[in-house]
Amino acid sequence: MNKSYNIIDHQYDVIIVGAGGSGLRATLGVAEAGLKTACISKVFPTRSHTVSAQGGIGAALGNMGEDNWKWHMFDTVKGSDWLGDQDAIEYLCSNASAAVIELEEYGMPFSRTEDGKIYQRPFGGHLTHNGEGVPAMRACAAADRTGHAMLHTLYQQSMKHNVEFFIEYFVLDLLMDNEGKCCGIIAWCLEDGTMHRFLAHQTILATGGYGRTYFSSTSAHICTGDGNAMVLRQNLPLSDMEFIQFHPTGVYGVGVLISEGARGEGGYLTNSQGERFMERYAPNVKDLASRDVVSRSITLEINEGRGCGQNKDHVLLHLEHLDAAIINKRLPGISETASIFASVDLTQEPIPVLPTVHYNMGGIPTNYRTEVLSPSKSNPDNICEGLMAIGEAACVSVHGANRLGTNSLIDLLVFGKSASNVAKEKVKPNSAAIKINSNSTEEVLGRFDKLRYSSGDTKTGEVRISMQNIMQKNCAVFRTQKLISTGIENFKNIETSLENLNIEDKSLIFNTDLTEALELQNLMAQSKVTLHSALYRTESRGAHAREDFTERDDENWLVHSLVWLDKKGTVQLGNRPVHMNTLTNHIQSIPPKKRVY
Ligand SMILES: Cc1cc2nc3c(=O)[nH]c(=O)nc-3n(C[C@H](O)[C@H](O)[C@H](O)COP(=O)(O)OP(=O)(O)OC[C@H]3O[C@@H](n4cnc5c(N)ncnc54)[C@H](O)[C@@H]3O)c2cc1C
Repeated sequence: MNKSYNIIDHQYDVIIVGAGGSGLRATLGVAEAGLKTACISKVFPTRSHTVSAQGGIGAALGNMGEDNWKWHMFDTVKGSDWLGDQDAIEYLCSNASAAVIELEEYGMPFSRTEDGKIYQRPFGGHLTHNGEGVPAMRACAAADRTGHAMLHTLYQQSMKHNVEFFIEYFVLDLLMDNEGKCCGIIAWCLEDGTMHRFLAHQTILATGGYGRTYFSSTSAHICTGDGNAMVLRQNLPLSDMEFIQFHPTGVYGVGVLISEGARGEGGYLTNSQGERFMERYAPNVKDLASRDVVSRSITLEINEGRGCGQNKDHVLLHLEHLDAAIINKRLPGISETASIFASVDLTQEPIPVLPTVHYNMGGIPTNYRTEVLSPSKSNPDNICEGLMAIGEAACVSVHGANRLGTNSLIDLLVFGKSASNVAKEKVKPNSAAIKINSNSTEEVLGRFDKLRYSSGDTKTGEVRISMQNIMQKNCAVFRTQKLISTGIENFKNIETSLENLNIEDKSLIFNTDLTEALELQNLMAQSKVTLHSALYRTESRGAHAREDFTERDDENWLVHSLVWLDKKGTVQLGNRPVHMNTLTNHIQSIPPKKRVY
């Protein structure tokens, strides 16, 4: 059947898959260096999920109070529950201010202070004086539409350069040579149904997170972690997949995000007794504790019968005590969200909220240079040639077991740029054309055809909802061995239905039936490895809270988990040491201690 595809070949120095914040920042840097660059995206660049980021970009500019990148580093290491690699965290925090200034110079429309500096607000887990001082004003914001402003700025900048954009091209898989080096990708053009092979000396994956494995998620429907699944299919591992961030304040019932910026501006949570319960769980910073802590506290309040509403199943977020003028100026987007999705005028009444899946700390393991790792027993930092990963798809790992708010957008900028620098170092402009054996192409198209012509009796949407319900129930804020094992058992049943899908539309043009099925395959692979990774880690750390192993266990688990999934669907687990060393001698490494807020 594959013979029917007429494949169009392209040769580039570097290709970037994904046009969110990280993909565009990398694209910009690579093109600036004069390399022949293509950026491929399944949606129009400014529709990538980065557009919906609200609260801010973390950088210790110190515009509105004292701050320092070393405190940012301390907070990030502590926030990560010591699972973050300290060399990478140093790289992130020490380069953060320059990255934000660069964005300002690119024309980013930041909110401003009276004296014209970039406006900064406090965010959970960001403090001064190595956690001992007052909350830091560190989140650089454009009202509560920071991601929107940032994505448009980066897209406009990349238009200045000689980048070729391939928009509404769905990337199916990576292409590897016989030595295991990545040589590019295969993509399906959604608009005209043509098949394309993009060959390149470096492939940068910037494909975003996989929030859609869960029923209730703040992520867009396109957040299906396609790049992560492509990596798994090459028998390369993913890392730290058990660490899923629940954002404390998704709108009850719909999951749409109310930014942490709301609490940064003075909002607070109450239970059914009207009590500000965060004062009990985090006496010092209260509602501005890190996300894992606040999400667990809300869940405990609900579990202990102090939830609000008829079903006692949510809590309330109050902003009505704040000055309406400030809300209008600083939080216009969430005012609209509260009104549309919760029918609440937030200047008058509180918003019902519930923890909702928000971010994936795990993903494709890389070093701070964004090179993808293919760890072996003898070398845990072994590199897979030709392949890089950035953004939410990657696990660098700067967020470890729990990401602090605002640290993703800064991660996109800093590591997007780092990827372009490394690509520049590795690839000469107009390098020789790449040849690839056709077997790998056949294999990808074989998988594609199997799905396209599959005529079973199960609808993609039915399998997806079953998968999302399992993840929501069996891999939630609190986990136990029994709960996760049941999830793994139930998952086996839906895996069989994945083999039995009914794809009605066999055409190749804007075939959403088929794209959703391809995305479902990707989601299923990631759900499976997430469940197994969650069962594997028998401790509680950051966002991974085991009720049967309530303590952090540094002796056995101060390691990144690794997970492989072979063609037969067998999961293999392993681990890799955490880099406790810093990158330079500008700062000492931060030894583990108990995390309290
Ligand atoms: C509602 C919301 C609010 C947030 N607010 C903040 C905040 O205030 N501060 C903060 O730091 N973080 C925030 N985050 C997190 C942050 O926005 C994301 O982690 C980040 O934007 C992800 O960027 P990315 O570049 O990795 O990928 P994305 O922006 O998700 O883009 C992924 C790209 O990959 C492409 N792609 C994917 N699969 C394929 C495929 N198969 N073929 C072709 N192209 C493909 C897509 O087309 C897209 O262009 C928020 C997240 C959400 C959901």
